[in-house]
Order: sequence, then C-alpha cells, then structure tokens
Amino acid sequence: MIRLFMSIFLLSAMAAAQNYDKTKVPQGNWYGDDTYFGYEYDMHANANDKDFGSAISVEYLVELFKMAGCDLLQTDTKGHEGLVSWYSKTPAASIAPGISKEMVDVWVKAGNELGIPCQAHYSGIFDMAAGEKFPDWNAVNADGEPVNGKMCPISPYADQLLIPQAKELISRYGVSAIWVDGEIWAVVPCYCDKCSSEYKKRYDSAPPRAKEDESWADWIEFTRDSFQEYVTHYADEIHSFSPDTRVCSNWLHSFRNPGCPWVPTDYISGDNLGTLSHPNNACHARFMSTRQRPWEIVLWGFYYNKNAPWIMKPLEMMQQQASQIIAFGGNINIYNQPKGHRDGRLVDWHMKRIGELGRFIKARKDVCQHTQTIPNAVILHSEYDFYSQKSNNIWEYKTQHLEGALAAMIDNSIPTDIMDEWALIDRIGEFPLVIAPSQENVSERAVEALKKYVSNGGRLIVTGPEMYDTLGGEFLGVESVALNNAHSYHIPAGGERLPLSSHGHQGGAWTEVEIFPWREVKPTTAKGFAPLTTTLFDEDKTDYFAATINRVGKGAVAYIPCDVMTYYYNCRYSTLRSFAAEVVAKLDPDFSYEIQAPAAVETVLRRKGDARYVHMLNRASGMPVFENIMGSQQPPASGPVSIKIKLDKRPESVKLLFESGNMQWKYTPEGEGGILSALIPSVHIHSVLEIKQGI
Ligand SMILES: [Zn+2]
Repeated sequence: MIRLFMSIFLLSAMAAAQNYDKTKVPQGNWYGDDTYFGYEYDMHANANDKDFGSAISVEYLVELFKMAGCDLLQTDTKGHEGLVSWYSKTPAASIAPGISKEMVDVWVKAGNELGIPCQAHYSGIFDMAAGEKFPDWNAVNADGEPVNGKMCPISPYADQLLIPQAKELISRYGVSAIWVDGEIWAVVPCYCDKCSSEYKKRYDSAPPRAKEDESWADWIEFTRDSFQEYVTHYADEIHSFSPDTRVCSNWLHSFRNPGCPWVPTDYISGDNLGTLSHPNNACHARFMSTRQRPWEIVLWGFYYNKNAPWIMKPLEMMQQQASQIIAFGGNINIYNQPKGHRDGRLVDWHMKRIGELGRFIKARKDVCQHTQTIPNAVILHSEYDFYSQKSNNIWEYKTQHLEGALAAMIDNSIPTDIMDEWALIDRIGEFPLVIAPSQENVSERAVEALKKYVSNGGRLIVTGPEMYDTLGGEFLGVESVALNNAHSYHIPAGGERLPLSSHGHQGGAWTEVEIFPWREVKPTTAKGFAPLTTTLFDEDKTDYFAATINRVGKGAVAYIPCDVMTYYYNCRYSTLRSFAAEVVAKLDPDFSYEIQAPAAVETVLRRKGDARYVHMLNRASGMPVFENIMGSQQPPASGPVSIKIKLDKRPESVKLLFESGNMQWKYTPEGEGGILSALIPSVHIHSVLEIKQGI
C-alpha cells in the first residue's frame, strides 16, 4: 500500500513540475508596497520545552508589536526538531510536549488586531521527528544508511506531513504564508530505491557513489531538480487549496542557486546572520534583485563575538546591514529571538530598537522600492560554472572568487552588480565593464556572448589560470607557457609589491599560505603590464606580467592568469585593491559615473522614473581590528565622497537624502551634455544622492 502510494506521489510531483516551463519566471505574489518591514520569531520547539508560549496573550503582543512598528509577522510553527508548537490534527504530526499556548494562534490574532499578516515559519526538508517516526522518509546516503532528519524529497513527507499541516495552518489559524526553512541548505543526495530508479530513468545509469565519478555533476543536478520539483509540488498544492496564501522556500533561487527562477513560489527570501562569518548580504541582495520576483532578506537581529554569548545587535549595525539590502529594492524581515525564553516573552527594549530600525528603513522606502540598476560594472556568476563545482550537495559551493571580485570592485568605489547567465547574457551590452572571475565552465553561449561583447566595444576582466582554455589564447592575445603551482610571484601596484606566496619568508615562523596557481603567459597581440618579480625587488623581474590587455574589435579584454579574486577575499590588502583599480583604469570602460570614496563606502546605482540614485553605504566599524570582533559598533562617519556623473542635460534638482551634510554640487556643460560633480563630506550610515532630470 505504501509502495503504491509512493509511486502515485512520485508521478504527481513529476507531473506538477512538468506543468512549468523551466525557462519562464512565474508571477510573484507579495502583499503590497506597505508591507516592507517584518518581524520573524521562530522558536524551534523541542522535547525539553515545558512552558512554550505561556507568557503571551493577544493584548501583550499587540502592545509590543506596536513598539516594533512592523508590517508583517512570522511566527513559529515547526522547527528543525520537527515538533509542531500547536495541536496539529494531521495523523503524521509530532507535537511538542510542552505547549502551554499555541504561539501561532495568538500571533495571528495579534496581527489581525493590528491589521497585519502573520506567516508561518515551518521547517521543511529538515525534520528530526519525522525521520524518527518514519525512518523510510529519511534520505539514504551512498552507503545505504539513513540520513536522520533529512527528508528524501520524493518520500511521502510532503503529502503526509508538510502539505496537510500547511492546510491546517491556513484554515484553522489563518496564516498568510508558509515560509519553509531548512530547505535547500539541508538537502542531501538521496540513494533510496525511488531516487535511484528515477535517476536511472533520467540519466540512464546508476547514481555515482563518489565525487571522483564523471557523472557526479549529473547526480547533483538530479538532486537539485528533485528538490525543486518537491517545492513545486507543495507550492501547487497549497496554492490550489488557498490561492492567496504565499509560499516561500528559504534561499531557493538565490545566490547559491543561480539559473532561471522557475519554481512557482511567491517570493524569494533567505535568512542571513550578517556578521564577519557570514558577511555576504552584498552578494545576496545584488543577486536577488535580478530574479524578477518580490524578495526580502531575513536579517538576524542578534549576533555573537567569539567566545561570547549571542546578544542583540546594536542599532547602527542593523542599520548598516539593512541598508545593503533595501538599496537594491528588497524588503527586510528582522529575525530576533530573545535568548532562552521559551515562554514567548518579548523584550521591550529589543522591540523599541526594532521600532527604531523600522523607522530608519521606512523613511527610505519610496526611494528604494521598485528601482532598477543603472548598468555599470557586473560580475558574471555563471550557473554553468557554479554547478560544475564538485559539491557534496546543492548548497555548499565555493563563492570566494565571486565575493572577492565584488569586494575588489566596490572597495574601489566601482558600483557593481552580480548576475548569472540567465539574467546577464541578453543585456550584457548595457554594462561598460564585465568581470568574469574564474568562470572557466561557462556555457558555449556565454563564451560567444563575452567575445561579441568585447568586439562590440565592451571591456572585460578575466581572472584565473583555467580561463585561458575557456576563452582561448587568440582572444586573450597571449600564449600559455606553463602552469606554475609553486611560484613566488609579486604583483606591482601603487608603487609597492605584493607577494602572492610566503616563499622566502623565514621558515615556519611565518604564515604558510595557499599558493594560487599562476598561468605563465607571453603576450602575442596583447600588451603586458605590471611585470611580475620573484621578490620585493624590481631587479628580480620575470618574463611574465601580472596582467595583459588585448584589443579586440572595438573593445578590450584584460587577463589576470591567477585567481586573484579569492586572494583578495582572503586578505583585502590595499596593494591588490590598487592593482584591480589599475587594471580597470587601463581598460578605460565607458563609465558614466566616477566615484572616489574611502574603501569603507559602498556605492550603489539605481534609478526610478526620472530619478537616479547614488546610494552611499558606510561599512566602517568603530571597533579596533581584533580577531574576536564579528561586527561593528559605533561606526565613525566615512568620507569624503566625490561623485562625477555624465549627464545629457542640466539636472532639475540634486539633493542629498537621509543624512544632513554640506553637500556641494555643480554642473559643467561638456560636449553635447555635461558633468555633474558632487562632493559629500561624509556618510554616517546610509545617504543617497538624488538626481532628477525630468523626462
Ligand atoms: Zn530518496
């Protein structure tokens, strides 16, 4: 009976996915512009809970939510333990033993009092209790052992637990959305009989058991497809039960899941700690803004320093992190869970701080919502290259080369986007500069597009030894001599020299670092610059260059035959930053914006209607550099920021928004248009230069 049921489920999940064109973006469904700032509070109910939710009432929550001033709520329904914090009637449910009050019930009612929706936080693929109760639902590893608590996506889990409970949460409690946590990052490749035979059907072979196997990428692709089909299945079921209820799968179609966002969820979301150990909201926000779907980032409101307990983040740290998200048009959901209180109490000064953050965010809403990028520089984050990495699962991919490339650009005050092939290829010509950091496995289409882009006048920076094989020596204007894995090369920049290895240091007393392989190339049609040396001395020059530039058609390509972007991610040394700036300057892209600012200031270009916006985000930390510190406190203002913009006519108005300061500007006619020059003395957290031109 169970076997028959599973076959039927398998067919229905596959059928659901087949209804969708995986090259089309489904319609998103957000609440509207006034739902901008949410509050997320998940508890992950566990077996030791004794008084879960005992302290809350509708009146109590209403008073505290008023302090927070949020537009959206998200409350606990099921955590990774798999225990629901409410009295589910679904036969397969595992109910937490210590429920005093059903949090979801009280939260939805409090939301109703305030006229704001309340979503359900619900752990999906990751469910320890279901794994224990239904061992057959667990994914199976390559040795045939169950992976406890990680559901097989084509097991009966969705039909027997997730979907019925989602329906209960909608019909019995009135939640406005199911926000499914513990999803893409928790998925493990599953070798169960059903998954193995489905893989055989699609790929005509048995699943590979080891990463060394040639078909490993197919296996991981199958795992990703099968996960996305599972999400499609529950999204369809929930939507047909209640069309207005929103469905979201945490981190689906985000930076680590590039490619067409075809799965029919309603919006894109991901929760990010946003400390030194997870700093990459910069990548996430940029990438999500290109998905053609409503999106938000769930920003953690608490953090830790090393060897210290978690505490709530200072207001200014949250403001700095939130600015990096809203500047790209995203919504914010602040995640705050008071430490250790299982009775559901909320801390009043936490709620007041969240309220202050909300006021900061909402003051910026009209300028930030519904904006588009102003194409400047863009990093190619190819889905083909990304998925060619031999990952253990569908989440753990290397991203340092991408993050380093972004940092190298924005630390040099070059506004930069990140796009996958899906988003970029058709509009690549709009960007004056493209950076392809170690993108050796891009598609054939992308190779052609990059070459055509340069030939039509584009400027391209290519990094990494393998890119020589991808784009070819003729296009790069160089000839490969050898791949050197044990060099001691030094890059010249800014009148200094930067060692790329620890060779020559005094033995073990000095840090030994990974050597990034260097492809030694000799220019044919390209011109080399920045000669490499083997020491800090100019006289120890080699035959090779840190970069070459080849003119192709109307454009040019710069080749740095080493993964310097990961190196920059590792160190952020100013010499390497200067080198990146020198390469960009030599390429001389046709930028309309020239910005000079301290490295701490990130600049973002957006437009809406007849307005252009230059966002200035101060990322400085007020604390001395110290290895135990994971976030900023009392950030000092950074500046000055000098902005020059090519305009086709005199602007109607130029304003500095959100922060006061003696901004000065002038417009100088030049050629058929003119140059707007603005000088902003400093930025504390986030200010915006607004330029209106009239249509
Ligand atoms: Zn399976």
